[in-house]
Amino acid sequence: MLKVTTIFYSIQGEATNTGIPSIFIRLYGCNLECSFCDDLLHTDKYTSYTYEEILKEIKQYPGMDIIITGGEPSIYDLNEFIGLLQSHGYTVSIESNGYKFENIEKADWITYSPKDWNNIHTTGFNELKCIVNINSNIQPLLDLDIKQPIFIQAENYVHTPNMTNITHCIEVVKHYPKFRLSVQTHKFLGVD
Ligand code: SF4
Repeated sequence: MLKVTTIFYSIQGEATNTGIPSIFIRLYGCNLECSFCDDLLHTDKYTSYTYEEILKEIKQYPGMDIIITGGEPSIYDLNEFIGLLQSHGYTVSIESNGYKFENIEKADWITYSPKDWNNIHTTGFNELKCIVNINSNIQPLLDLDIKQPIFIQAENYVHTPNMTNITHCIEVVKHYPKFRLSVQTHKFLGVD
């Protein structure tokens, strides 16, 4: 069983895989309590689904790319579930704050969004995504020496862009080309 807050079909709006039509499975619960969290998206209500019930739900959509997000997906051991989805032909991506990479290691793609920039893992993921506002101290990110792409993403409002932070992030990326910009395009498009 998994605690699911919502399952929906949309477009990946962030980082490397921007633009891929994707089925989002948002899981309930997190190990952290960030001040900027869109927490109603994952702390409100949940439904307990069996793996088979989730499969039935997602098969109504034509997309074959799945993004498991939260909350923090790695508070659950998801490897068996990920394997089941893959055996049905799905590609599985996970968004994680890095709590327990071993619980999601079967995923095809892992986006790591660390919340403590002074303790960033260097392995176990495919891309790093850091949420930045005008007051962020990005020095720990500048000091990072990793092979994976490092995305800078503005801290936006829950459903709309924060242009002050986005303008700042554009300048950061132009000044430090080791970074890439992640735009949250879905918030410009007005989709979930
Ligand atoms: S890690 Fe993510 S889901 Fe968890 S509290 Fe922080 S922003 Fe919210």
